[in-house]
Amino acid sequence: MLSDTLVIHEIYASIQGESTFAGMPCTFVRTVGCDLRCVWCDTPQAFHGGTRLTRGEVLERALSFGTPLVELTGGEPLLQPGVLPLMRELCDAGRTVLLETGGHRDVSGVDPRVHKIVDLKAPGSGEVERNRLENLRYLTLRDELKFVLADRADYDWMRGIIATHALAAFGMTLLASPAFGLLDPRALVEWVLQDKLPVRVNLQLHKYVWGADAEGV
Ligand code: SF4
Repeated sequence: MLSDTLVIHEIYASIQGESTFAGMPCTFVRTVGCDLRCVWCDTPQAFHGGTRLTRGEVLERALSFGTPLVELTGGEPLLQPGVLPLMRELCDAGRTVLLETGGHRDVSGVDPRVHKIVDLKAPGSGEVERNRLENLRYLTLRDELKFVLADRADYDWMRGIIATHALAAFGMTLLASPAFGLLDPRALVEWVLQDKLPVRVNLQLHKYVWGADAEGV
């Protein structure tokens, strides 16, 4: 079956770099392949190649690091059908499971125990047309919506989306991340304070620890 194997770029332990889990030890399962091309993408090395492993092998390696937290990331994890049962199995094994997804793939089949970190692509990404806004109805308070912002126009777009979809009233965590090297975090903080916007300014922690070339999470 297609879901019995996965093509994997890397499985490794690090600290979680983006989201409300930032700073916590985490095992990352980075899948291969993405059907977007965000202009500021920091993991193009995960677009191609990789190693095909059975789902059992991926599960065993992911559990072997012993971290309570395991994140599926990419590339785009939801391109591979084996990711859905793998996340179920990781939850069954007692792990707290995070899914980092580009927001353009259907998240309705994701195990409800998984914490979904879903991007909404701002215009500066070059992929704003690919946003799947239907995903919003499948998000719960367990999940987080992430906006990576390259400039003031992206910030204004985010503000409009939050207002149009009443996202603040829903109470879900909204992450606003300056695209590394493109938007000064201080400018973002000033805009958020001026507007009293209920977002969590989110820095890519791994970049500050390992430098600008560190892979995204
Ligand atoms: S969705 Fe993620 S992996 Fe895909 S191009 Fe955008 S930033 Fe890169």
